[in-house]
Amino acid sequence: MRALYWIKRDFRLNDNMALYRAIAENEQILPLFVFEPDYIKQPDISPMHIWAWQCALSGMQICLRNIGADILVSTGHIIDILSSLREKYDFDNLYSHAETGIGWTFERDKSVAKWCKSNDIIWHEIPQNGVIRGLKNRDKRQTIIRQRLFESDPLLAPKNIKFPDQFNNICANHPIPCVEDFFDMHVYPHIQWDKMQIISESAAHQDLHSFLDQRGLGYSGGISSPNSAFTHGSRLSVHLAWGTISLRQIFHETQKAKMKRKTEDDAQSGQWGRSLRAFSSRLHWHDHFIQRLESAPEMEFQSLNPAYENIIYQDDAAKLQAWKYGRTGFPIIDACMRCLQAIGFLNFRMRAMVVSFAIFGLHLSWKTIHPHLAQIFLDYEPGIHIAQLQMQAGIVGINTIRVYNPTKQIIDQDPDCVFIKQWVDELSGFSPAEIQNYEDIILGDYPAPIIDFKPCAKVMKDQIFAIRRSFEGKKASQSVLDLHGSRRRTKKIMPKKTEGIKTKDIKIRRNNSHSPNQAKSLQGDLFDKED
Ligand SMILES: Cc1cc2nc3c(=O)[nH]c(=O)nc-3n(C[C@H](O)[C@H](O)[C@H](O)COP(=O)(O)OP(=O)(O)OC[C@H]3O[C@@H](n4cnc5c(N)ncnc54)[C@H](O)[C@@H]3O)c2cc1C
Repeated sequence: MRALYWIKRDFRLNDNMALYRAIAENEQILPLFVFEPDYIKQPDISPMHIWAWQCALSGMQICLRNIGADILVSTGHIIDILSSLREKYDFDNLYSHAETGIGWTFERDKSVAKWCKSNDIIWHEIPQNGVIRGLKNRDKRQTIIRQRLFESDPLLAPKNIKFPDQFNNICANHPIPCVEDFFDMHVYPHIQWDKMQIISESAAHQDLHSFLDQRGLGYSGGISSPNSAFTHGSRLSVHLAWGTISLRQIFHETQKAKMKRKTEDDAQSGQWGRSLRAFSSRLHWHDHFIQRLESAPEMEFQSLNPAYENIIYQDDAAKLQAWKYGRTGFPIIDACMRCLQAIGFLNFRMRAMVVSFAIFGLHLSWKTIHPHLAQIFLDYEPGIHIAQLQMQAGIVGINTIRVYNPTKQIIDQDPDCVFIKQWVDELSGFSPAEIQNYEDIILGDYPAPIIDFKPCAKVMKDQIFAIRRSFEGKKASQSVLDLHGSRRRTKKIMPKKTEGIKTKDIKIRRNNSHSPNQAKSLQGDLFDKED
């Protein structure tokens, strides 16, 4: 039997079940990666993502060449490539991981499935995390996750692969394309390639171990400020997004680190314990949010909670431009947007803040800001991204609504304006006190604030709370909770028909009838203490 192993977002040799099964079940394996121009044209794809592919692909190619194999790198329409490969290499099986992507990849996969069927090829789509395709009973999800991620050990990298010899030369003649092959780089002068995170299997392990050995000590208490989160956060999101490491590997290594720290009798063991617990709890959100998109792919285009679909947003083009390019006159917002554009990374709190500012302050819809943010996140993971956008927009209906005041965020997270000055050159000559006073004084060439934040935010909050208080809003939120909420939560949010509708009814986390532990897990559901 011959197999084609189609690499998608799983650029690794270790703990790769699709690759493992392809090797175990076939005599020959040809690894394939395809740059698909139609995919690259999608509005959420950018040069940063091509760079991520290049980086991850060349790392994996080196590892495969070390064991006598290679990757065939092609550019084109996947069906054309599969058809032409079938003529040269009569394969019986196609292996890949089961991808939870955008509508375009979903449709592409449907056409691949159809092609496989009509060509008598079996396509094995294999899960690489705790996301379950066709999930019927959500109560069984925890058991499946436990089996997949905790009760089985990560797979070891293969020592050799039976690679079809006739492809040695062909692979050598198919180099990895450059970003310039797909994008006019004059349009992206802000990207600082030399400062972007390296994405490869070996870089993933270095990042994991530097985190578990050193950087992670400061995780608890250190992930809210952009001055510390870049060091004390794990920085594993890019690796998970492109599959240069698996979630199972991270959980297993973290578990080992927890055990080691427990037995250590030093002053830092308490802080390590807090940090590693907080980190593990965040890791669980990875699959939780991707599962939402897997189960409700329509949420890419419409609100998960239909009660909020008709909110009125201004979607003013000038405000959108100012926000995108960091010219809003709000120093912390502009610093974050410029940082993202340059290096593709920002910590959770700052991401939540820029989204909250766009929605509540500028009255831009989550649909309007989605493509730009996706483009400038090097760790763009559609499931997490879309779910988080809707959550920060306050339209899921089952979470506390958070509106981040940009002035308070400077005082709390960047009081000396170190991060702001790093990214907003125009402010480098001003003192922190002057910068914090940005709403009242002119700061050289730096623009004045383009809105009065508090009254603007109130208008949007009023709209959202009106829906939240309505009977229809509560009814729709109850279905969202039943279908997509964490199973750790039990409280019903639907009022009895006869009940008067009061604001306190919708504060679903303040429920005295829960045990303290339950109450804690409700709170931890969306924002842990750090955020
Ligand atoms: C608007 C918005 C969009 C986001 N888009 C993405 C995205 O496209 N890709 C992405 O990986 N993360 C996204 N996040 C979640 C989070 O901000 C990043 O995962 C985190 O900042 C990455 O840094 P880290 O790896 O150091 O995180 P750590 O704090 O070290 O967390 C470890 C891992 O846990 C997972 N994780 C952490 N927080 C969350 C969360 N809230 N939801 C789901 N998983 C989480 C990530 O895989 C992360 O790498 C988004 C958050 C917001 C508010």
